[in-house]
Amino acid sequence: MSDAKKIKIISINCGSSSIKFSVFEYRGGRRGYENIEKQRGLLELNRVLSCKIEEIGTEFGYFYVSGKNKSESKDLNFKDHGQALYYIVKKTGLFENGGIDINIAAHRFVHGGKYYRKPLAVSGGDIKKLSELNALAPLHNPLNLKGLEIIKEILPEALQVCVFDTAFHGSIPLYAKLYPIPIDYYFKYDIGKYGFHGISYSFISNIFKIAGKKFKRLIVCHLGNGASICAIKNGISIDTSMGYTPLEGLMMGTRSGNIDPALPFILKEKLDAAEGEVYDILNKKSGLLGISKKTYDFKELIKRKDKYSKLALKMYIYRIIKFIGQYAASLNGLDALVFTGGIGENSDVLRKEVCAGLSYLGVKIDEKKNESAAKYFQAYNPFGRIKVAGSIKQVGTGAVPVFAVHTDEEIQIAYEALNFVA
Ligand code: ADP
Repeated sequence: MSDAKKIKIISINCGSSSIKFSVFEYRGGRRGYENIEKQRGLLELNRVLSCKIEEIGTEFGYFYVSGKNKSESKDLNFKDHGQALYYIVKKTGLFENGGIDINIAAHRFVHGGKYYRKPLAVSGGDIKKLSELNALAPLHNPLNLKGLEIIKEILPEALQVCVFDTAFHGSIPLYAKLYPIPIDYYFKYDIGKYGFHGISYSFISNIFKIAGKKFKRLIVCHLGNGASICAIKNGISIDTSMGYTPLEGLMMGTRSGNIDPALPFILKEKLDAAEGEVYDILNKKSGLLGISKKTYDFKELIKRKDKYSKLALKMYIYRIIKFIGQYAASLNGLDALVFTGGIGENSDVLRKEVCAGLSYLGVKIDEKKNESAAKYFQAYNPFGRIKVAGSIKQVGTGAVPVFAVHTDEEIQIAYEALNFVA
């Protein structure tokens, strides 16, 4: 693409039971593409529509769509992602008065394997290569691929671009990437740390640069249903807590994170478990859910008073504090700490408890600012250009500043795709 004109981009993020979908416009206009190659290119994208479908394949389906002047939400069940995506595209047509005209469809792919360190403009042979990645992240990549195939069918004229979560971590040095197992497994099977949530980390790294906050040593905690931590040095990832799969690292909603590596073998024997059963337990029945026995949902968990829910919360926080200590060591110090993701952005309790364990680093929470952060983000209007100041809220004022950041993976996906093809 070379001429400067209005480009429409959709950004599609297919999760296990949800789809997040946004439409952006980029007006090259007078300035052409000159900015899109820099971080400031994020500011050239205008969000015109945002849409979410949740609980796909269940009886509790929910649909939400919002444009600048209009929004709609309702309970609506979809049997699968295909049906949901067809519905979204039809709906977005309504908002655009006279049908959709999309130039780029940008798809989030969780795992890029060894092939993809940059976005990919999809052509014929790529689908087979992309499908080979399914085995690396079986809970995520097959759905990302399904989304791509459906959108290709619905919007055959659009350029399909994949943006990979693992790409941001391509900079992790080999000594941090390798597991201390026979090195031939790395050479033969590419077994090493890939890391995830890279799109969110890239967004945060960019938004800080745009805001003029250049921290040499930054730790970002992305805490949602899945959760990870990243050590970022001069804007690039040098280590992260998720590994070859998104199961490693922190305790999560339903995932165990780090455990004794012998436990899967021991559990298989004790439970006389079938093939894949232990993997399923560690992915879907552990973490906050496994300990509390009640819920994987953090918002729900912190309201509970029973002892196992309290224990789950204590463990969750303790493990984050330990990881931050580890990464402060990897970075040889710390210049700023960031919380993001559904929990990191919204829970003042979480931030306060974690920061209380980090006073030795010079971290000090500001109670008032911390408590007001969620409200600050609720007031955020996502339409039009991204609001840099509105995306960042400082919540700690010690020697090492602490921030809550409203991450925007959809705009980062659109930006990376556009930047790649421009
Ligand atoms: P995903 O990893 O699926 O994208 P999110 O980033 O949306 O997840 O985060 C979901 C988590 O955020 C859930 O555990 C939810 O309870 C939690 N969460 C959302 N809002 C709040 C809130 N106000 N306080 C505490 N936790 C919250």
